[in-house]
Amino acid sequence: MKQFRNFINGEFVATNKTFENRAPVDNRVIGLVHEAGQAEVDAAVAAARAALHGDWGRMPVARRVELLHAVADEINRRFDDFLEAELADTGKPRSLAAHIDIPRGAANFKVFADIVKNVPTESFEMTTPDGGTAISYALRAPLGVVAVVCPWNLPLLLMTWKVGPALACGNTVIVKPSEETPATATLLGEVMEKVGVPRGVYNVLHGFGPGSAGEFLTRHPGVNGITFTGETRTGEAIMAAAAKGVRPVSFELGGKNAGIVFADADFDKAVAGIARSAFENCGQVCLGTERVYVQRPIFDRFVQALKEKAESLRIGPSDAPGVGLGPLISAEHKAKVVSYYDVARSEGATVVTGGGAPSMPPELAEGHWVQPTIWTGLPESARVIREEIFGPCCHIAPFDTEEEAIALANATDYGLATTVWTQDLGTAHRMARAIDVGLCWINSWFLRDLRTAFGGAKASGIGREGGVHSLEFYTELRNVMVKL
Ligand code: NAD
Repeated sequence: MKQFRNFINGEFVATNKTFENRAPVDNRVIGLVHEAGQAEVDAAVAAARAALHGDWGRMPVARRVELLHAVADEINRRFDDFLEAELADTGKPRSLAAHIDIPRGAANFKVFADIVKNVPTESFEMTTPDGGTAISYALRAPLGVVAVVCPWNLPLLLMTWKVGPALACGNTVIVKPSEETPATATLLGEVMEKVGVPRGVYNVLHGFGPGSAGEFLTRHPGVNGITFTGETRTGEAIMAAAAKGVRPVSFELGGKNAGIVFADADFDKAVAGIARSAFENCGQVCLGTERVYVQRPIFDRFVQALKEKAESLRIGPSDAPGVGLGPLISAEHKAKVVSYYDVARSEGATVVTGGGAPSMPPELAEGHWVQPTIWTGLPESARVIREEIFGPCCHIAPFDTEEEAIALANATDYGLATTVWTQDLGTAHRMARAIDVGLCWINSWFLRDLRTAFGGAKASGIGREGGVHSLEFYTELRNVMVKL
């Protein structure tokens, strides 16, 4: 059985407290994870601090950039190892992990290394009060030891999205992967070792949140900043921990995203796009759509077409032929999603399709499978329209005017993303201005350019990462004034 050890100061470290890692497809135990306690957290922080002021801190930027390119190349060389590890942990369709999760994991190192190499800082010449000249310029100093706390839905992709820029900026990191998905973060330790990233630069601590590695790490006074992706409620706890010592945070949190389809949209593309945004990764995408608003003239036709799409999705494990929907991550998460399916029914929803768990062959019967589910007919006050479910489900409601669509989309505490479908340029641009989100897709969904800002408005996050915005968080800008 696989053992997932902590990675501290370049060494894989076992502890005497382990917990089980289970496969979502059949709930089989596939590994044992070594839980980090306070001692391991202390050791990781000390190692990261030493590396920050040691080899890593003294390394010329060009060499750092070269090493991060080597990390990306080594991930690509071991592509199949990363792919298998991610599939075992998540059960997602192979094509999804092969086309998105793993390639993006590698790209996150290359892209941010190049941004650090190529993005200039400011410089001004000024006349001093005595008539002389001074030049001031900005230096980017690393933030320091950065804690990276990650979720389970896109484990390698979301972890490297933070680790890539953090290391490119000269920081050292301590990653706390989700307890559900320990594999790829551990594997990345082997990559760091192989390509020669100095010890202590990249550390991994396994464990849970409260009373475990997550809390010990985020409370640790030796951590200079915390970057976190996960639930809004967890973000509140981490923010409280970060308040001690006024340490900066970057948060990518939950969402309750609206998809808006105007009557003039390319119908088939809109159906396919909304279906993808609602059901991809079994609905376990922070950017996913759980609220769909469709302009009345095409409402009935759209509901029928989305129903057909949902029912055509093949449910099964990663390698099942034509598979479109994998399992949910855990028994606990399945219980949560199914409880929302029950809530929708008790709130009076019309269940257009789904609403339960599919029957699976005996060897998969213990897996965390749910049906893709569509509801109509609920008032906006319904819990399944207000609360993030994080499953393959959505509610569809009609709207008449653009103003009404905007009001519906904005009637939420969250503000992560939206996807708008229309052929009218004016409508598209007005919607992009009016909806309070960090990301607005027009006639598309999940298209990402790593050079651009990513993050959430309202309760969906704090700050932006991506492109130069990542540099803002992972460095302290220092002004240097030189009197000539
Ligand atoms: P989660 O908040 O339960 O856990 C995320 C991580 O935080 C895990 O590693 C967990 O162990 C750790 N943690 C939990 N409590 C902690 C505490 N008190 N102190 C320190 N660490 C703690 O989230 P999840 O269930 O893993 O992921 C799903 C959530 O993530 C959804 O809400 C989803 O919307 C959100 N998400 C957001 C984005 C985004 O970019 N905005 C991306 C992916 C997922």
